[in-house]
Amino acid sequence: MFDYSGSFAQYSVLSRLESTIMIAALMPNYNRANIAFSYGEGAWLFDERGRKFLDFGAGIATSSLGHGHPHLVNAIAEQAAKVIHVSNLYLVPGAELLANRLVAASFADSVFFCNSGAEANEGLVKAMRKTCADAGQPERYRVICFEGAFHGRTLAMIAATGNAKYLAGFGPLVDGFDHVPFGDIAAVRAAIGPQTAGVLIEPVQGEGGVRPASVEFLRALRALCDEHGILLGLDEVQCGMGRTGRLFAHEWAGIEPDVMSAAKGIGGGFPMGAVLAKEHVARALVPGSHGTTFGGSPLAAAAGNAVLDVVLAPGFLEGVEATGRYLGGELSGLCARFPGVFEDVRGVGLLRGLKCVVANTDVQAAAMEEGLLTVAAGENVLRLIPPLIVGTAECDAAVALLERTALRCSAGVEVGVK
Ligand SMILES: *Cc1c(COP(=O)(O)O)cnc(C)c1O
Repeated sequence: MFDYSGSFAQYSVLSRLESTIMIAALMPNYNRANIAFSYGEGAWLFDERGRKFLDFGAGIATSSLGHGHPHLVNAIAEQAAKVIHVSNLYLVPGAELLANRLVAASFADSVFFCNSGAEANEGLVKAMRKTCADAGQPERYRVICFEGAFHGRTLAMIAATGNAKYLAGFGPLVDGFDHVPFGDIAAVRAAIGPQTAGVLIEPVQGEGGVRPASVEFLRALRALCDEHGILLGLDEVQCGMGRTGRLFAHEWAGIEPDVMSAAKGIGGGFPMGAVLAKEHVARALVPGSHGTTFGGSPLAAAAGNAVLDVVLAPGFLEGVEATGRYLGGELSGLCARFPGVFEDVRGVGLLRGLKCVVANTDVQAAAMEEGLLTVAAGENVLRLIPPLIVGTAECDAAVALLERTALRCSAGVEVGVK
């Protein structure tokens, strides 16, 4: 094995002595908690100091099988030893298998693999625009999005997200996205014009504060898109891949989109995204029109297939639904016991949010001190998005830790992990 540690240490000492550089080498674009995890097991993470944390954040709804899942670990290790990457200049049988399985299990006829949620949404919007252009309507390029949405951090996706906080300082807005209030069908109808290609919505807004669209709203959107001959796109990057107790969240509404993005949980922590499309949309992405170097590599496909092996095993999604319902019930009880800290519980399945009375980031920090990892979201919500493999025992443990957190918050104990 190579040992780089000495040379790196020497390099960083020298560069710091010889210059006035004050910035951390790892770019400081995140507010990181002062914890470094060294390993994980199931829903638990262990830090360098030996402390144990119950992981109800799952790397932001991404570590869908938890940590150290033997089936996923073996699949990745075995594939890595064979071949990691070959490019899309060649056949990738694992990616074909994964696409076939996703097609068999969903509305889609065809799948494009990429590496992240933002990249999947970029592909989705490009597919929408190209579908219209190929149909002789290139003027239809605009996409109707929703207030409170989150679609990613690329230049186009910050425009699709439309949140001023993510746009500031990044220059002119990428054109082509219109925003209407979430859940307002009359506003969608009014926003549809001769330049509209389609609508893009998260069936459950994640970052926006765990806000599920109603079944009625999703059905009305589908009908409205059909009425106007425009495309319905769903962003299931966070709510898809089993998180709500169905493989995809829109299944609860009994509707089918024309095109959909997936990512986060799809690789169980291995970076992966996907665009799933009906034939009439997928046809638009002819050879040369779209691509990505790493997408659907043998290694990514091995991870994706291993995740699907678990998620599509008989009874697994029913288990997520049941555990999610149990967690929801326990969280309502918690809200009733601590009305000074928690206002109500929202969400579906294992995508849950506690609307906080006190600052959600304070509750998040206090929970971390108690040994529970959560994720803050919009509207002062604390997200509980555990690995999909949790059962009622882990939910009970999480609620017990939230109870201690609530006591700490109501007592006004100073928070902040040291
Ligand atoms: C996280 C997320 C994205 C962006 O995914 P990245 O992998 O960070 O690019 C897009 N849409 C939704 C709904 C998300 O939750």
